[in-house]
Amino acid sequence: MAERYDLLVIGGGSGGLAHAQRAAEYGAKAAVVEYGPLGGTCVNVGCVPKKIMWYAAHHAHGFHHVADYGFDVEVKGHDWAGLKERRDAYIKRLNGIYENNLDKRGVTYLSGHARFVDAHTVDIDGQKVEADRIVIATGGRPSVPEIPGAELGITSDEFFELDARPQRVLIAGSGYIAVELAGVFNALGSDVRLVVRKDSVLREFDKMLATRLMDCMDRDDIDLVTRVVPKSVEKTDAGLVLHAEDGRTFGPADSLVWAIGRSPNTGTLDARKAGVELDDRGFIPTDKLQQTNIDDIFALGDVTGRAALTPVAIAAGRRLADRLYGGMEGRHLDYETIPTVIFSHPTIGTVGLTEDEAREQYGDDMKVYSSSFIGMYYALGTNKRRSEMKLITAGADERVVGCHVIGEGADEMMQGFAVAMRMGATKKDFDDTVAIHPTSSEELVTMR
Ligand code: FAD
Ligand code: NDP
Repeated sequence: MAERYDLLVIGGGSGGLAHAQRAAEYGAKAAVVEYGPLGGTCVNVGCVPKKIMWYAAHHAHGFHHVADYGFDVEVKGHDWAGLKERRDAYIKRLNGIYENNLDKRGVTYLSGHARFVDAHTVDIDGQKVEADRIVIATGGRPSVPEIPGAELGITSDEFFELDARPQRVLIAGSGYIAVELAGVFNALGSDVRLVVRKDSVLREFDKMLATRLMDCMDRDDIDLVTRVVPKSVEKTDAGLVLHAEDGRTFGPADSLVWAIGRSPNTGTLDARKAGVELDDRGFIPTDKLQQTNIDDIFALGDVTGRAALTPVAIAAGRRLADRLYGGMEGRHLDYETIPTVIFSHPTIGTVGLTEDEAREQYGDDMKVYSSSFIGMYYALGTNKRRSEMKLITAGADERVVGCHVIGEGADEMMQGFAVAMRMGATKKDFDDTVAIHPTSSEELVTMR
């Protein structure tokens, strides 16, 4: 007879683990099925190893300024392989911690590939498991364009497998991953060319952020080329060459990285056998309660195609458990006003509406405040980088509806401002808050 659970979660990543553990805390008999290492994208090939690489790049940037502060330091090189070894060991430790956490909460860990049989039954490598409720949290994987030679390139997954730093790097894409990896490679010594399809990176964010970042990239010698639509990739004796639709060629490169978005892991899930509807790209649509079109089947995290961020998957998972097992009727994640950080060099922190979105929503009933300055960190040297900030307010009471920052420390400054905005803070609340000096974030409460 098939083993039966109250809850079966498919996918042991950020969202799936958070949901299963919270449900088990409320007393549900829960199991998680996972075919890869526990922790999913974030822990294994996402946020965590990426942030380690960002720290490495951050140190590299720091070396440009230490002489201004009186240090006489000679940097003799960078041991990429050693860094990778320590990074991999750290992640292995995290995998173990995640398994322990499941164990401590009494969640059963099933290792294998889940495929739906029907709305209450899943096949895991030939073993049938039944559950009253099933949650799909299968995440996604990097997209690769369907063009000849695309397989010669790598994605962010294989970036984390690189044992040595490629010298000549070509990156195709314009979103989070493209600019983050461009910054890492560049800071650690590679020659980076970033090719984007349109006129800018980060087009979905406030324009000020992309303009400033592209200026910083230029000063860091990242070669950004616009209007490049990839057509094919060729392997030559000199390296990889990318051919664009308009006839231009880029390369030769030692490594070509595709960073053009992600696709949902639903191809081998057989969700339709349970009657679950997918959209035309394979994502699983849900309502605000994470409910799919089928009773007792829910979906959360990247597989739903909404705000693909770890804390979003975790929050959706925990709130769903609060509602289904914790008696908190109606509890759900509000997908508005989600703060996010792009770990570029310098970092970007952003929350709320862009200027264009605010103008569309509020017409003339909105106001923009901005500030552009050189942080004190650069006071003693010549190699200075400008920070830029923007606050957008709406209505007569000037409620803050958008906050956008690029510059040193943006990553650590945004969380608190996001709390204030969720609470409905107005420009006057910002003005009435005493500044912390000397910091960059004080600019956000002193704008006029
Ligand atoms: P995942 O974490 O992807 O977990 C899904 C799991 O399901 C996977 O482990 C997969 O193996 C498993 N699975 C899939 N199908 C099956 C099946 N049929 N049977 C069994 N198991 C299955 N977000 C941030 O907030 N901050 C960051 O700094 C950040 N950096 C990132 C950097 C990179 C390079 C990438 C790629 C992503 C980054 N993200 C970041 C996004 C973040 O990693 C994801 O939003 C998050 O991991 C989504 O969690 P999830 O639970 O929805 O899916
Ligand atoms: P993004 O969605 O951020 O950006 C991908 C961009 O690539 C698209 O917006 C598009 O921009 C461009 N693109 C799409 N198709 C093609 C194509 N065929 N050829 C060339 N360019 C193309 O995707 P990422 O892969 O960078 O990241 C995936 C998600 O992971 C992010 O959206 C984010 O949610 C999450 N993430 C979060 C991070 C963080 O929190 N710091 C870090 C990394 C990832 P355009 O239309 O301008 O060409």
